This record gives sequence, C-alpha cells and structure tokens, in this order.
Amino acid sequence: MAVDTGRVAAPVEPTSHGQGVFRPLGLGDVRITGGFWADRQRVNRERTIPHGYAQLEAAGTLHNFRLAADLATSGYRALGMMFDGPFPFLDSDVYKWLEATGWELGRGWDDGIGTSTDEAIDLITRAQRDDGYLNTFVQVLGGGRPYTDLLWGHELYCFGHLIQAAVAWHRALGDDRLLGVATRVAAHVDAALGPGSDRRGIDGHPEIEMALVELYRVTGEERWLRLASHLLEGRGRGLLGEGRYGAAYWQDHAPVRSAPTVAGHAVRQLYLDAGAVDVAVELGDDELLDAVLRRRRDMVATRSYLTGGVGSRHRDEAFGDPYELPPDRAYAETCAAIASVMLSWRLLLATGDPAHADTLERTIFNGVLGGVGLDGVSYSYENPLQRRTHRVAEEDGVTERSPWFPCACCPPNLMRTFASYAAYLATTDDGGVTIHQYASSEIAAPAGGGVLRLKVATEYPWSGQVAVTVDEAPDAPVRVSLRIPEWSTAANASGPGEAPRDVSGRRTAAWTRQWQAGERIELDLGVVPRVTAPDRRVDAVRGCVAIERGPLVYCLEAADLSGGVELEDIRVGQPLIADTKRDDVAPSVIGVHVATSSNHEVNAIPYFAWANRLPGAMRVWVPTGDGEAPA
Ligand SMILES: [Zn+2]
Repeated sequence: MAVDTGRVAAPVEPTSHGQGVFRPLGLGDVRITGGFWADRQRVNRERTIPHGYAQLEAAGTLHNFRLAADLATSGYRALGMMFDGPFPFLDSDVYKWLEATGWELGRGWDDGIGTSTDEAIDLITRAQRDDGYLNTFVQVLGGGRPYTDLLWGHELYCFGHLIQAAVAWHRALGDDRLLGVATRVAAHVDAALGPGSDRRGIDGHPEIEMALVELYRVTGEERWLRLASHLLEGRGRGLLGEGRYGAAYWQDHAPVRSAPTVAGHAVRQLYLDAGAVDVAVELGDDELLDAVLRRRRDMVATRSYLTGGVGSRHRDEAFGDPYELPPDRAYAETCAAIASVMLSWRLLLATGDPAHADTLERTIFNGVLGGVGLDGVSYSYENPLQRRTHRVAEEDGVTERSPWFPCACCPPNLMRTFASYAAYLATTDDGGVTIHQYASSEIAAPAGGGVLRLKVATEYPWSGQVAVTVDEAPDAPVRVSLRIPEWSTAANASGPGEAPRDVSGRRTAAWTRQWQAGERIELDLGVVPRVTAPDRRVDAVRGCVAIERGPLVYCLEAADLSGGVELEDIRVGQPLIADTKRDDVAPSVIGVHVATSSNHEVNAIPYFAWANRLPGAMRVWVPTGDGEAPA
C-alpha cells in the first residue's frame, strides 16, 4: 500500500495541545484509489491544473510578478477593473494554484506541473522585496507603499493564500522555498499591523487569519497565532467603515464573538469564521467557537440552498435574509461553497458533530462540484438553481461556463480543493478511526499502539454500498466508525460475524474490537431517488419539489426534453421515480426518471452535471400538480 503514516499532510492540522474531538488524516494516510473522486482528481491533475497555469500566463497574472521582479517592463495586466484601476487581488490566483500543485504533487510527481511550479515559485521569490513585502499591484502601481488601502487592496488576503500555498508545499513535499517567502511576508504584516505595532488595521477581505494559524502549526512560532488572534479581534471596531456596501460586507459590523449570525459577503464571512475556529481550537477559546457555531447553525437552517450553496445576493455577493433563497437569482458563488466546506471540516474536527460532515457532503457534491464543467476546464462563478428558457434565449449561444474569469478566484479554489479532497474523508482519535465521506480509498491511521489499515470499496455516490476491509490491525481493540448521512433513511450495516442490522436514524455505526486482517464491515446506505419538499418559508420555491438521490441534488435540463416542450411547463406528477443510466451525460452517471402531471416522463440529471451540453434551461425545484392556484 502506498499510504505512509507519520506524514499527515493535510490543509488543517491542529497542534497536539489544540482542542478537538477528531484529528486529521492527511494525504499521506488517505489515498483515493478509484471511482467518482479518483476520476475527478485525475481530471484535476491532467487538465484543470495545467489549464490553470496557461490561464495565469495568458491573463498576465504571472507577468505581473515579472514586473515586480524587474524581469519585464510593459504594463500591469488584469482582465478586470475596480474603481478605474486593475483588480488588485490577482496575486492570490497564483498562490491558490500553487497550493493546488503542492497537494497534487504530494499525491504523485508530475514533471509538467513541477516545471510550471518551479517557474512560478522562482518569480514569487524574485518579486519579494528585501523588507519581506510582496504584492505586485502595490509594487508596480501603488508606489510601493504597503497597507494604504486596507479596505479594497486585498494585500493580507493575498498573503493568506501565499501562506496556505507555502504550508501545502511544506507538508506535502517537504519543500520550503515558499515557506521562507511566506514567513517574511507574515513578519512584514506583524511589524506593521501586529499586536506590538502602533497601528490597528485589518484587511477588507478576511483569509489571512486561518493561514497564520496554519503557519503557527507548521513553525511552532506563537507570534503567528497571536497575530491571527489580533487581526480576528480587530473586527467590528469600525476600522474599515461602511464603504459602499455597509460594514458587514467586509466583516467589520460586529466583533467576531458577538456577531449573531452570518452577514455580508459570504466568502469573507466563512473565511473569517474558519480562521476563528482555528484560533479558538489553539487557544481553547469556547466562547469564540460557540460564536461560530451559532452563526453556522443559523446559516444552515435559513440561508443555504439545497445544493449547500450560500450567499444568495448578487449585488454585494452577500447572504440574504432568512429564507431569501430564490433559485433563479441565486448567486451562490463557487468560492462560498468551498469556504463552507473549509469551515465544515474545521467544525467537524473541533466538535465531532456529524452534522458538519453532512453539510460538507451536500456542499462538495453539489455546490462545489457544480462550479466546474465535466471537462475540467470550464467554470461557473455563480451557481443558480434555475436557468429560464427566456434567459437562455436572450443570451443566445452563450454557454454557462467560462475557461477563466477576470476575477479568477473560483477556478484555482476548485483545484486546491480537489487536490486535497482525500484529507476530508476520515479522521483519527484516541479510540480509532471515523470515516466521514465515502470514496474508494486506502486509509492508514495510528491506532491502539499500532497501525490500522483499511480499504474502502464503493461506487458512491451512485451506490450506497460501502465495504470496509481491514488490511492490518494493532494488537489492541480499536474502533471503526462509519457516518450515516442525514439523508439516509434506510441504512443497514453488518460487521464481522454479524447479520445486517438496521442503523437508520443513527448518526454513526461503530465497531470496537480486536480486528483481524481480512475482517469486513458492510454498509448499505439505501441510495434511492427521493422527493424533497422545501421549507415553507422559502417563498420562491413554494409548491415545488426537488429530486435527490443519496448525496446528490438533481435537476431537469432542457436538453432532456422532447421537442416543443418548455421546461417551465413541466410539473412533477405522482412521485413515480426510478434510476436510469445516463452514460450520454458522462460515464457511470445515474439519472432519475420522473413522471410529470401530464403523464409524460422526463429525466433528471445530477445538478453538478448541468451546463455540459447545449445551452438550455435548467431547474432544481419543479412545481407539482397542475400548478393552478386554488379556487
Ligand atoms: Zn470565487
């Protein structure tokens, strides 16, 4: 087996004295070996990451580093403008791409990606100033004066992504070229804005907080934890003011400890809360953790789409009011879904509550995965749950997905998420191992004074059958736990020498024993299509239902309608639904056959697979019955 215990290599690695229920297992411990996620990772490696480098070059993002390094002289390049100037945050695209390549090359070397990476790291190293500062926009266009525009400049945001890339390269490959650059950048921030400085300042876009905690975890230097905490506690003090969208937009409306619920720009809120969990875990700060949990509960209950997407408003990329969840006007940025996954994971480690693994699963399979085309090189920034026939006609021939964006935050965010996805599958703790997400994989974890090696075989998410085989076990009883997803209402499990038993309604199925190699657990989560009704307070989808199957949300797409029928005229009839093979959409995809009220039949496909054929209407929530108002 390729797995190698002792090298965790995960995006989030709390210290041994940090609080938490579960400890991560990293890319050295968990390897995805086949099936759905192996296919996604292969596409990410072979197509998405190389495409990302080509786009960073084509867009001029790498060129800007050459300018800052005095290796080029022509103008600063950006595909997008803000306040009559180029976007100032583009450095972060390179850093996120580098984080992706770190995790990816840690899974297995690739010469092509390795060469591109060397080029990028070399440029970054040469662009860094002698005083440690590094921002191409400020160095090339901003007169070299740091921290003059903390509201919109995104300097600390970019640094956060640089630090995360450096952490990935350190953990996955033991390569510290970026760690040296990142540490000098962090020291520059600490001197200018840290606890010992005479200036109080925070960045308009949170992100650096969680990165600094990880830098502390890598280096053991407490100053990074103190700096993270200092920046976190600087929120809600009016340091940034109201701006054009109000103080909540950049998370300066209330202190992190007292903000009652999620507000403002969704990505900023969730990155900030991810950093808050990291700080809380390391400081043993229950008040801070409880504040995040309070916001999180409210977000999941009242401001999340069925897909796990969050942030319904376009205007300021913000959370809406409770139940303000229009499917057609859903913004639901891909990055917000990724940020939600990052936060779910931290909360799962901290609390052990499987509800966070449920949210993570719903979000990764739908809200995140819908953000990239099946080809791996086309993306969506927004992830609506409905596209109207009229809208598609107005935008004649324009496809939903683009090869890149002027603000290209989402594509490299997807790359780093897929490259590190194995780290989200399982955890360890003093009692044993818990498998939270299902994928064909090999897992090795320290347990019971030895090593527990497990092989997971499954066709998930197409099938709910999961077989876990013990390959090697310690000479002591240890626990193996399997999460039962919240959507699973008919789950059966059997362990060694045990007949299948009903585990419906439980959150985990667990066995503690002295394992022998070859022993096997079988779990059947009962994946069948189901009809989901919306919360009655979501006005925009009242009278509609959605089709789900296992962890996947389904949608109807115009490409599956027979000639002349408009998607808006379809109404779901009796819940006569059944699986159907959809190899025409992509290999091994299972669709759902749905009866309509007019006794036609239509085929729903997984939401993540929409917008991969001809441009056309789509909807997740479909009206029921005849659609007429009651007399
Ligand atoms: Zn984005």
